[in-house]
Amino acid sequence: MRRINLKDIVPDLEGRLKKLNTLRKVFMVLALLIIPAIPAMIVLAKYGACMQLCHAVQAVKLKDKMPIFMLFAFASNEREAAQKLIDTGNLAGYRIVGDVMIVRDDIAMTDEEAWEEAAPFFNVNAAINMGMTADNMPECYKKIIEIQQRKEKELAEGAAEYGQCPSCGAPVKSVDSEFCDKCGTRL
Ligand SMILES: [Zn+2]
Repeated sequence: MRRINLKDIVPDLEGRLKKLNTLRKVFMVLALLIIPAIPAMIVLAKYGACMQLCHAVQAVKLKDKMPIFMLFAFASNEREAAQKLIDTGNLAGYRIVGDVMIVRDDIAMTDEEAWEEAAPFFNVNAAINMGMTADNMPECYKKIIEIQQRKEKELAEGAAEYGQCPSCGAPVKSVDSEFCDKCGTRL
């Protein structure tokens, strides 16, 4: 599985990005003079990694909460990376809930709520493609898959037993329903 290089996560990532950008420009000029190709590649790689981390920080700051897997795409140490972004002050004022969600400190959230909220975004095939297996899968993802399966079952049962609303297509949840829960059409 892919791993985030935790050494790249330092305080003030935005400041580091600016410095690396300056260095990158210097090396680009030097590389034109065919001098240090390998140092130039190292600087470019560091710049790329730093930019990705800055983008992750910005993505979290634009929202008040975000699933960790949306930032680090199921890297094997994504929770560690998220915690280090918080500890280094890049995401000051945030915390991790249920091992899965980065949440701003002023927002209350239980572990169960975090799994419920992350479930619609969790794609099990994407996780498998990134090297996740039933054996190495973190507990929080197992909880999310349970939630997804429960919701699929509820939907399937609703649709199979009582049909769908003729107006909006929403599943009818009870045989006694007089009106559609979603649009209010009489059934
Ligand atoms: Zn309806």
